[in-house]
Amino acid sequence: FVEELAQLKELPAKTLDGTEVELVGNIGTPKDVEGILRNGGTGVGLYRTEFLYMDSDKMPDEEKQYKAYKEVLESMGEHPVIIRTLDIGGDKKLPYLKLEDEMNPFLGLRAVRLCFVEEELFKTQLRAILRAGVYGNAHIMFPMISNVQEVRQAKAILEECKEELKKEGISFDENIKVGIMVEIPSAAVTADIIAKEVDFFSIGTNDLCQYALAVDRMNETVSYLYQPLSPAILRLVKMVIEASHQGKAAKFTGMCGELAGDPRAALILLGLGLDEFSMSGSSIPQIKKIIRSVSMEQAKEIAEKALTLDTEEAVVAMVEEELKNLD
Ligand code: PEP
Ligand code: MG
Repeated sequence: FVEELAQLKELPAKTLDGTEVELVGNIGTPKDVEGILRNGGTGVGLYRTEFLYMDSDKMPDEEKQYKAYKEVLESMGEHPVIIRTLDIGGDKKLPYLKLEDEMNPFLGLRAVRLCFVEEELFKTQLRAILRAGVYGNAHIMFPMISNVQEVRQAKAILEECKEELKKEGISFDENIKVGIMVEIPSAAVTADIIAKEVDFFSIGTNDLCQYALAVDRMNETVSYLYQPLSPAILRLVKMVIEASHQGKAAKFTGMCGELAGDPRAALILLGLGLDEFSMSGSSIPQIKKIIRSVSMEQAKEIAEKALTLDTEEAVVAMVEEELKNLD
């Protein structure tokens, strides 16, 4: 079994009929990169930069951030690294950033919303990412986007940072790719509008489920309603992928929520056309094995079948049967 996994590491995540997808990893710190490479991951699909802020007793300055991002980019070589801008608020707080108490923190000043209020903080991070981008294949990703205006606002601030760096004569990645997390239902259903403004999407199913199903992702009492494979979520995922693939310049859609590393979801997501799956390093071999054992045609049929079913329970039962047939 260990030998089988070692062999898998070198093989592409390709279906029997030749469709290749990217299997990449989620990281919180530069140290986590090792686990992705060891498991054959071909990039970072989500770098949760908030740990850089939470593990510090003061705001990390541009230099400190630049070093951390550069380290990740260098160890990933040519592979893409998607760096997510600060996602603080909700349940995550910074001791050195005083914020008003909120009645509903998850619906309040979180992530990009906070960054628009604390613009200096935001710009410091964007400058650090732009500068580090020189050392690899960096992508910037904005979290908690709810509409296209926010995308435009974030991109305008990014442009300001580029202008500043240019004036200061500091080198940076001029053509850095820009994408968003799709984790708020309003962004999912307007993905066709937003797609025109970005290079890629990454679906954050952890929050997408929380917001679309109105279920606190931490609350055990209502966790039975937290159903990532329910018809509601599958329809949203399908909508986002299709929106990204339309038009002349096809954009890619990844997924970096927990669902991307769930073997029960793999065949459906593949069949829906997901381009990139981002998960913890240790989940990569298992998902790769599943992808390598089907044809795209089979996966599409399974996805289509899933979309006709009326409950998550039925979807899970169907897909478990399909997985059994694979081995
Ligand atoms: C998500 O919401 O699915 C996600 C990947 O972001 P986080 O878990 O960091 O909120
Ligand atoms: Mg999220």
